[in-house]
Amino acid sequence: MCSRRKVLDNLLNILIRLRTDRNRNRWTAVTNHRAPHKPFLLLSILDLAAQGDIDQPFIEPSFDLAERFTRYWSLIMPVGTTGNMAYPFYHMQSEGFWSLVPRPGMETDLQQRPVTSMTRLRGVHLGAKISEELFHCINDSQCREQIRAALLHTYFSPSVRPILLRDASENQEAFEYSQRLLAAAEKAMPYAAPEDRPRQVRDQGFRKAVMSLYKHRCALCGIRMLTPDGHTIVEAAHIRPWSESKDDRPVNGLALCRLCHWSFDEGFMSVGKGYEVLVSPMARAEQNNPGVIMTLENRPIFRPEEDRFIPDQACLTWHRRAVFKT
Ligand SMILES: [Zn+2]
Repeated sequence: MCSRRKVLDNLLNILIRLRTDRNRNRWTAVTNHRAPHKPFLLLSILDLAAQGDIDQPFIEPSFDLAERFTRYWSLIMPVGTTGNMAYPFYHMQSEGFWSLVPRPGMETDLQQRPVTSMTRLRGVHLGAKISEELFHCINDSQCREQIRAALLHTYFSPSVRPILLRDASENQEAFEYSQRLLAAAEKAMPYAAPEDRPRQVRDQGFRKAVMSLYKHRCALCGIRMLTPDGHTIVEAAHIRPWSESKDDRPVNGLALCRLCHWSFDEGFMSVGKGYEVLVSPMARAEQNNPGVIMTLENRPIFRPEEDRFIPDQACLTWHRRAVFKT
């Protein structure tokens, strides 16, 4: 047996024997009557590795990781329940391939009590060091998919395996689409609408591209709010809607919070020729109390760092003419 195969087999042997809570009253047949936290965390790590995000044997409790974990949870676990990534991130240290790395000065804090929230996890730990074997295997596409298959097979019922597998592949396709959108802007390539892609892949790809440019900050009001489990207040908005423009270029996008997104789509707000926030006189109508929106008028928008990703004035002109109420 070649040594690479042996390493993978050893690793798979460990990964199919994770210590998980087995309580038939708490966990249904969907997760083979076992707690799904550790398998979800490992599946999320595989997704980040597929995107090339794990370039050293170290896992950060990052927003992207938490977002994938929460996504997996929401796909197959009962509505109204939420997974907490802090649990598996902390308890995985009993598995041998995972050791927590405390923040400098926090070493003694570690011994005192287990970590039960993401906020505390991030406050006390930089992340987790993983074994070289796991690191190499998750960065090899064949090994990675064998690990994924073993996790799905061991910890999930046959009925939900395709759901989890499909989501992983859509996430990867969306990531590749977002990279293509960003690279096209970089090379100023002509844009061709990707009609052949499934809608959810396009939407997620566009979203990933816009979020990476605006770093989860609302372009109009500047708000940035992230929850520990991977939720963000901002959404990726098309300046000219996809239905009308078929334009997923990042320069046809803005990251907008819920309030600004709604106000932008309803014509209460727009962006001027000098990239200043415009507020419609409609906001001052008698029945309205626009609050914080009025303080944004004429303020510069929050823009991506690089000029080539700044919103296209042709798209903004369209918005000012077709949507903004003057
Ligand atoms: Zn906003």
